[in-house]
Amino acid sequence: MGKVYLTGAGPGDIELLTVKALKAVQKADVIIYDRLANPDILKEAKSGCEFVYVGKEDGRHTLPQDEINETIYQNALKNDIVVRLKGGDPFVFGRGGEEGIYLKERGVEFEIIPGITSAVSVPAYAGIPVTHRGIAVSFKVITGHESPNKPTSQIDWDSLKSDDTIVFLMGLHNLSKISSKLIEIGKPKDYPVAVISKGTLKEQKVVVSTLEHIAKDAKELPTPALIVVGRVVELRDKLDWFNS
Ligand code: SAH
Repeated sequence: MGKVYLTGAGPGDIELLTVKALKAVQKADVIIYDRLANPDILKEAKSGCEFVYVGKEDGRHTLPQDEINETIYQNALKNDIVVRLKGGDPFVFGRGGEEGIYLKERGVEFEIIPGITSAVSVPAYAGIPVTHRGIAVSFKVITGHESPNKPTSQIDWDSLKSDDTIVFLMGLHNLSKISSKLIEIGKPKDYPVAVISKGTLKEQKVVVSTLEHIAKDAKELPTPALIVVGRVVELRDKLDWFNS
């Protein structure tokens, strides 16, 4: 039985792959990878390494999670080194925990290789620090996948009233609902918001707007994209470095 490395691929820019992840990729017999993992990383693999794509195209699942879990397990039975390569960090909305539990229950040895999460690095490439002295003392990373109007929403919207930074992942399709909800809980209509698309890549696009107008202003942006809400967005005027 082989060993599985649940590995973060970083947010996009291939140089944001960790040294540890690169070493795992270079020794892998098989790499099971996602849509969000930069495919150029696969060029680092040794010759003869097998590649298995289990990504999800915009909402359409090519493979349900339990089949992905089983694919990883089956590959661990017949290979020495299996790299499960996932965008960003495997434990930040990456379902890496589920994969680890599945392996543990079947006696497969694994290691977690954390990755640079998009939640922090994509704002950084847009010149937006998620915390800043005197402006934001904390930040929250929230799934934007849940419609805020759903009665079963697990998000505590009332806890988002302060000026601390909110980063929504997977939220582009719900952007108008999310911004309306934030206005409903009391944020000003002109409160700053940024949407960052294809962050850290040369195709990176950033739209800065207000809660009132962001849905209209950002609707053409391609995925993957994340939403940053907070006064820290205004710091981009001084800190933008990547696009300029
Ligand atoms: N585990 C990943 C997140 C997976 S959820 C991580 O730690 O980064 C997928 C969401 O991440 C996307 O819907 C998008 O909101 C965000 N995302 C990932 N890569 C991104 C990128 N390069 N630019 C903008 N958003 C990105």
